[in-house]
Amino acid sequence: MNANLEELRTKLDTVNKELLRLLNERAEVVQAIGEIKEKQGVPKFDPVRERKMLDELTALNPGPFRDASIKHIFKEIFKASLNLQEEDHKRQLLVSRKKQPENTIIDVKGNLIGGSAQVMIAGPCSVESYEQLRTVAAALKEAGIKVMRGGAFKPRTSPYDFQGLGVEGLKMLKEVADEFGLATISEIVHPGHIELAEQYIDVIQIGARNMQNFELLKAAGEAKIPVLLKRGIAATLEEFVHAAEYIVVKGNTQVMLIERGIRTYEKWTRNTLDISAVPLLKQETHLPVLVDVTHSTGRKDILLPCAKAALAAGADGIMVEVHPDPQTALSDAAQQLDIPQFQQLWEGMRNSGLFTE
Ligand code: PEP
Ligand code: MN
Repeated sequence: MNANLEELRTKLDTVNKELLRLLNERAEVVQAIGEIKEKQGVPKFDPVRERKMLDELTALNPGPFRDASIKHIFKEIFKASLNLQEEDHKRQLLVSRKKQPENTIIDVKGNLIGGSAQVMIAGPCSVESYEQLRTVAAALKEAGIKVMRGGAFKPRTSPYDFQGLGVEGLKMLKEVADEFGLATISEIVHPGHIELAEQYIDVIQIGARNMQNFELLKAAGEAKIPVLLKRGIAATLEEFVHAAEYIVVKGNTQVMLIERGIRTYEKWTRNTLDISAVPLLKQETHLPVLVDVTHSTGRKDILLPCAKAALAAGADGIMVEVHPDPQTALSDAAQQLDIPQFQQLWEGMRNSGLFTE
């Protein structure tokens, strides 16, 4: 009896090996078909052909396997074959590390972002007045910070809230940036305003609410200045990376990604800062990755530990909102730091040893 079992097992092993050889022989034919279909631009999956093969096989089936089992087994083989064809021709995104192993380094008015040094971007949520902006700019300059943010076109939840100063705000940014020798970042919400942005600011911000505004992404892809793309409030990293691809495929390779928190059930923070996004985006793409600690937390009291966490995770920079008098700010009053609070945060970041200037 035992001898017989051994014999049968040996026979089974031989059949397995033969099946293995045949399956791979089949896979090679499948790959060759995949190549032809790729060249012809026709879909890899052909349901009519699959149905025909299944019908032929069940018609020829002598048993003991029942037809349903044969169908099931072959359906699995067909599925694996289709995967093989698709894997062979998987498009590699332009923003992916596989496509470009070295980091993209972006030159923002002489400040290199994505290289060995990190960048601090600070400024008010909204540009409100020339005086407000000058006060912030002076504080930034004194602190040695080179890049200032400030919204001129504000995408607000309510249409009754302050919508920003628009072009006037961009003009103020330019004037103040020239006076203090700073680079500027401001959000653009309309594809028709890209050229306007090029005239007045150094980096176009695409906000969280517009991360999948594809016409805006395409227009930003034609811009001659860098783009800072914010992660959407409910965007997966896959969607975020594809949004960046929309810009890069149009020719603008100067794209930076910024994690700004995602919406979860948590109420103690405005959004949930997804620190894991930082190493994942650094791993999967070659673009600079920044963290906006202000919008992700919506608070002022945990910015230093969050900024440290971001830097420790490999972020290329930090963004924070600062306002001369946050209580009277026309947007995001609760989360903006005043100038002394900002100086304290900046000091803490520099002392942490995590910020390389
Ligand atoms: C902003 O940076 O001012 C802003 C509106 O941010 P987000 O798009 O991330 O909400
Ligand atoms: Mn804001």
